[in-house]
Amino acid sequence: MTSNDVLAMFRDAGALLEGHFRLTSGLHSAGYLQCALVLQHPAKAERLGRAIADRVRPLAPTVVLSPALGGLIIGHEVARALGVRALFVERVDGVFALRRGFTLAPSDRVLVVEDVVTTGGSTRETAMSATDAGASVVGAAAIVNRGAAGDIGAPFVALAELRLPNWDAAACPLCAQGAALVKPGSRPASAA
Ligand SMILES: [Zn+2]
Repeated sequence: MTSNDVLAMFRDAGALLEGHFRLTSGLHSAGYLQCALVLQHPAKAERLGRAIADRVRPLAPTVVLSPALGGLIIGHEVARALGVRALFVERVDGVFALRRGFTLAPSDRVLVVEDVVTTGGSTRETAMSATDAGASVVGAAAIVNRGAAGDIGAPFVALAELRLPNWDAAACPLCAQGAALVKPGSRPASAA
């Protein structure tokens, strides 16, 4: 599955939105990827999960860990394709934590899976929660890398690359024009 195949899937699902968006990272952008519109089709989610699994299999992960809510569906599909567990972290007082009785063992080789990575902030936070639990992080993966993911301290794989302009709020030209801001991400603005 090439980067263009993946982006075509997003275009076909109407998941490539144009406007004035506040991303989960806090950056503002003229474009947004609404992954839920692709992942609402289980067959597409499964295909994307298999494609990521094929790329990360050499890392020999024993568990997938995703940040809620955005990473849940694709994380589950990657885990299904790899035949490993699918765990997720949730924010407790603003910090990602393992809940619901989920555990990681020191022998666990964790793959962090997200839908879209922009700054890599939540990927790094998710990886940190795995290492805090005593496991090792062997890699991270996303459907789309739309920014500079930065160093997460492990190999990073994305099925597609999409460069959309992002700005700090203070430098956002759309804010300067007074355009209404949409916050489509999964994280409440107050916790970002
Ligand atoms: Zn703005």
